[in-house]
Amino acid sequence: MKRSLVWPALLWATTLVASPAQALQVVATLPSLAALAREVAGSYAAVECLLSPRQDPHYADARPNLILSLHRADLLVVNGLELEVGWLPGLARQARNPKIQTGAAGYFDASMAVLRLQVPGQVDRAMGDIHPGGNPHFHLDPRAAAHIAVALGKSLSTLDPAHAAEYAKNASVLSARLRALAAEIAQRFAALPEAERRLAVYHDSLVYLVDWLHLKQVIAVEPRPGIPPDPGHLAKVVATVRTTGARALVQEEYYPRAASDQVAKLTGMRVAVVAGGPQFSANQRYEDYVRGVAKTLYEALHGGP
Ligand SMILES: [Zn+2]
Repeated sequence: MKRSLVWPALLWATTLVASPAQALQVVATLPSLAALAREVAGSYAAVECLLSPRQDPHYADARPNLILSLHRADLLVVNGLELEVGWLPGLARQARNPKIQTGAAGYFDASMAVLRLQVPGQVDRAMGDIHPGGNPHFHLDPRAAAHIAVALGKSLSTLDPAHAAEYAKNASVLSARLRALAAEIAQRFAALPEAERRLAVYHDSLVYLVDWLHLKQVIAVEPRPGIPPDPGHLAKVVATVRTTGARALVQEEYYPRAASDQVAKLTGMRVAVVAGGPQFSANQRYEDYVRGVAKTLYEALHGGP
């Protein structure tokens, strides 16, 4: 009884703040994807993001307002490779929107556009990745983002053919900038001596960045993705860091700090905490986010600017 009253009221309230009726409604799961979609869509779509950069994308809270966003979306942009499998499918079902169901024209899986790493059976399984299609954490690699931008341009053009030329132009300009950014940052890291290229991570979420910048990941604080470290594994992390001389331990801001701080204290390595994505709600661009992460990482590895 209560529900039937609440729903129309919520729908009515959101129509008031929505953009012009003709604009496409795009909903992305991660801030990085939302920021890319906003640049490719330009003024022809309203882009919303389901998660904040402070939320771990593996285990997001299923808040009811997310269902409403999904209910009125024309395009849903997901990371894919099961990153959102713990929370998104249930929300998408409850949203009752056929346009954005898996396989529909309004369902965009970013992982389909990127060159995947750590695909089980194909690449190194030593890290025990839980995602059978490959490691899903490609959002920090601007080379992957360049591919995603182009694919987003095609999806938006299919949904809104009247503005296909603009989407294609935006996508091509953005992907060129992202490739240039990737080259510029890689060049900076190329100057680092071998001894300053080794890092540890909290979660196994930097493999694409490590590949892009020719770094070396020596170990993860989590013994397996999503599993907190026990004392035995922490001792192994400390030993590995000492043997390899890894300089930095990198983790997203939503992971607990205690284990990393303990390792840092015992080894003298630096903990580099990075944001989980651009501040989408404050209009931060993807490129500025990546620059910020690269700067934090470089300084942690090198011991200064
Ligand atoms: Zn993960």
